[in-house]
Amino acid sequence: MENSSENCNVKVALHIRPLSRLERQNGGKECLDVVPGTAKVLIDKNSFIFDHIYGGGGSPSINMFEECVMPLLDALFQGYNSTVIAYGQTGSGKTYTMGTNPKETSHKGLIFQIMQTIFNKMETLKNESEFQLHVSFIEILKEEVRDLLDSAVIERIETSDGNPENVAPGKPPVQVRKAADGGQSLNGSTEVSVSTQKEMTACLEQGCLKRSVASTDMNTQSSRSHAIFTIILEQKDKNKGEENPIDCMGEEYRCAKLHLVDLAGSERAKKSATEGVRFKEGVHINKGLFALGNVISALGDDKKRKEAQHIPYRDSKLTRLLQASLGGNCKTVMIACVSPADFNFEETLNTLKYANRAR
Ligand code: ADP
Ligand code: MG
Repeated sequence: MENSSENCNVKVALHIRPLSRLERQNGGKECLDVVPGTAKVLIDKNSFIFDHIYGGGGSPSINMFEECVMPLLDALFQGYNSTVIAYGQTGSGKTYTMGTNPKETSHKGLIFQIMQTIFNKMETLKNESEFQLHVSFIEILKEEVRDLLDSAVIERIETSDGNPENVAPGKPPVQVRKAADGGQSLNGSTEVSVSTQKEMTACLEQGCLKRSVASTDMNTQSSRSHAIFTIILEQKDKNKGEENPIDCMGEEYRCAKLHLVDLAGSERAKKSATEGVRFKEGVHINKGLFALGNVISALGDDKKRKEAQHIPYRDSKLTRLLQASLGGNCKTVMIACVSPADFNFEETLNTLKYANRAR
């Protein structure tokens, strides 16, 4: 595979978790080899190159924040949207990497470091700029959007052909609204104003709690839904008169969003024998994952990128919601998470292939 160009706004990292205790007990062997000193991984007869590889003999995971996420935070303060996406089969370490599980106390994932850095930056810049921070937290389950920071949970949003679907009675709708920049923004999802890291953490925890409570079958449901935690930063120059590239509220405010996406598990649906049909190879359980793969690979394709209409954002709720934060000047980091165990070989290979399309 070719190296992606330096100025490419999509970066793909691989995060290989250690064998779990259970995998070891069951005699699991590692099936991935990172070529020392490179970001190249070997699996069976295949090799894949990424922008970065963490774990499994690659760089230590501790470097991930600096290398992958810090450039996005710089962009955020310059007014550009960006997106961090964790992809992989259930159990591969997406939530661990992102840090969306408040119960995981032994390890602080990316979100913790992101919050810390944002508040530090705001403190450093407080003489020059005035800041307002908001967060929203939604999940997408079976093409329905749920607001995780509000008590009214599920609402339908308009379909891709423009017809509104049924709206559940008595609940304020969460709508996908066409934004001025041509993208989609989440209109109607709760945006909570936060002024401390503690408040932001509380929103994250509340949303995580709701994500599991709202599910009838906690494990399967949460592994089938995409969770999007969004940090919205508005800033105003205190020494007015300077140019502000993007206005979103009032004239002098510059506004940018950082989306942190913990995707649904990428594993293929295992149809039971009684159903009599075998899923064709390549059929995804999830429309969003399928559409996201197409969008990200189109973004990496110079020809398609120049003709924005060929980027198939409209094929799923996930890609429509992220549209204003994927492509263009937006920075995107996909972190593909994998288990090294040989009995996950097939899913791991699928993840490597999927992530490789993004480069
Ligand atoms: P996913 O969200 O992809 O389903 P999780 O993040 O819940 O997977 O990870 C599954 C298990 O593996 C958890 O118990 C988690 O603590 C552990 N784990 C994941 N990644 C790592 C890692 N890099 N180092 C150590 N443990 C990990
Ligand atoms: Mg998870």
